[in-house]
Amino acid sequence: MGDPRGFLKIGRKPTPKRDKVERVQDYRYIYEPMPEGDIKEQAARCMDCGVPFCNIGCPLGNLIPDWNDLVYRDHWREAIDRLHATNNFPEFTGMLCPAPCEPACVLTINDDPVTIKEIELSIINRAFDEGWVAAKIPPPDKRTGKKVAVVGSGPAGLAAAQQLNWAGHNVTVFEKDDRIGGLLTYGIPDYKIEKWVVDRRVALMEEEGVEFRTNAYVGYDPTTEDLRRDYDSVIIAVGALDGRDMDVPGRELDGIHLAMDYLTQQNRRVAGLPVHEREITAKGKNVIILGGGDTSADCLGNSHREEAASVKVLTHGPKPPENPDHLTWPDWPSVLQTYAVHEEGGEREWQVGVTGFSGENGQLKRMHVVETERTDEGKTVYKEGTEFEIECDLVLLAIGFNGPVRDKFLEDLNLGYNERGAIPAEEGFATSQPGVFVAGDAKRGASLIVWAIAEGRKAARQADLYLTGKSMLSSIG
Ligand SMILES: Cc1cc2nc3c(=O)[nH]c(=O)nc-3n(C[C@H](O)[C@H](O)[C@H](O)COP(=O)(O)OP(=O)(O)OC[C@H]3O[C@@H](n4cnc5c(N)ncnc54)[C@H](O)[C@@H]3O)c2cc1C
Ligand code: SF4
Repeated sequence: MGDPRGFLKIGRKPTPKRDKVERVQDYRYIYEPMPEGDIKEQAARCMDCGVPFCNIGCPLGNLIPDWNDLVYRDHWREAIDRLHATNNFPEFTGMLCPAPCEPACVLTINDDPVTIKEIELSIINRAFDEGWVAAKIPPPDKRTGKKVAVVGSGPAGLAAAQQLNWAGHNVTVFEKDDRIGGLLTYGIPDYKIEKWVVDRRVALMEEEGVEFRTNAYVGYDPTTEDLRRDYDSVIIAVGALDGRDMDVPGRELDGIHLAMDYLTQQNRRVAGLPVHEREITAKGKNVIILGGGDTSADCLGNSHREEAASVKVLTHGPKPPENPDHLTWPDWPSVLQTYAVHEEGGEREWQVGVTGFSGENGQLKRMHVVETERTDEGKTVYKEGTEFEIECDLVLLAIGFNGPVRDKFLEDLNLGYNERGAIPAEEGFATSQPGVFVAGDAKRGASLIVWAIAEGRKAARQADLYLTGKSMLSSIG
């Protein structure tokens, strides 16, 4: 423990952000690095608890008190080793994780938690700057000769592929898109993670021996049969990308889109890549975003950067409280989530239900809405006599996901679907087909990057056990 009285003397410092007027004019990362002195001071707030609840709150089981102490003592090299022991990609979580470890931090009981996420990001940034993050190439005599196919290149697929390659197997990652990264590349905006950050990891993995095949839609080319014949094991990491739609009058009008269709196009435009489908753009439009989660916030941030005329975010249910009215520690508090993009503009409204859309000449012009209320049984219902209309040119549906897309690959494998629409796993990550494992959103339903990495690691260990009967891969994370 760095400073035994640190938590008594030092308060939590927020992560510095770029000025909101400046940052909405570009797609660069929103946050600024915290100066090293501040990071060490923040690390000194860690109490090195006997039972570190932060570690339990983290799906990866990150060794948080260890690296807090090492940062405080200026032992950055050891800190990155400790961080990499449980997390293959700390730069992804350091930038993007909502950090369930922080509300689990013991300090939360009567103070603000340790800035765990910021310390994590500082460690990995320092490690890259110093050249400490190098490819770990398995020696040729450690190669097992076994072949593994990883289907999907999001954080779950990448974590599984890296672990299995380190275990000595020959790993090929198949990705239907033209770039590697899953939602990290096509979904999450550049101002949350600039894409060179993803490419840097992918390049290291290529150097380590992982083979990546883009524009490879498993089920079609290669076929499911090809994969089962040519590979000893398969990891399904296809995500949960089947976006929820609405069935209301006027849904067919031009100008109503699933959020992911817009977000993918935005990522392509920012990367300077062509958009093959009809363009969806918020520029100069009156935009309405339906839904209140991560996807909705990403549509909001992009709409501002595209200079929309106005943006409204509407949510079906009631506004969550801004602060919990009771102690929720160590669990995640059910409170209003306000992200950096909400500071940049736009209106947020709650308890609004959509009854339909109308337009002119096939083009959306207005949305028909009604106020909602919660019944004593907790159901959200429409309030009679409260109908009204909102003028709009673009509506983005960010109302959740049904689970993985039920495409040819999954239908061929015939593994079934559970109540979340996801692929069921029997023991841990094994599916009903021998040698076929599932990880990440494909198994959990839409979730988080930290869970995707944790599951990719665990599925890799199970596949390694299946292939060789033993495994040196970590069972943590
Ligand atoms: C807009 C948005 C913003 C988000 N923001 C955050 C955030 O800030 N922080 C956070 O922690 N989480 C966030 N999430 C959730 C997070 O991105 C996911 O939980 C995570 O990416 C899941 O990883 P995955 O590897 O399971 O799947 P994905 O990242 O979805 O990757 C699946 C990949 O599989 C590919 N694929 C599918 N089928 C096939 C096939 N048959 N053949 C070949 N390839 C195939 C897909 O093209 C895709 O690239 C966000 C989600 C969305 C939608
Ligand atoms: S719970 Fe908080 S104070 Fe305790 S070890 Fe973890 S980070 Fe440090």
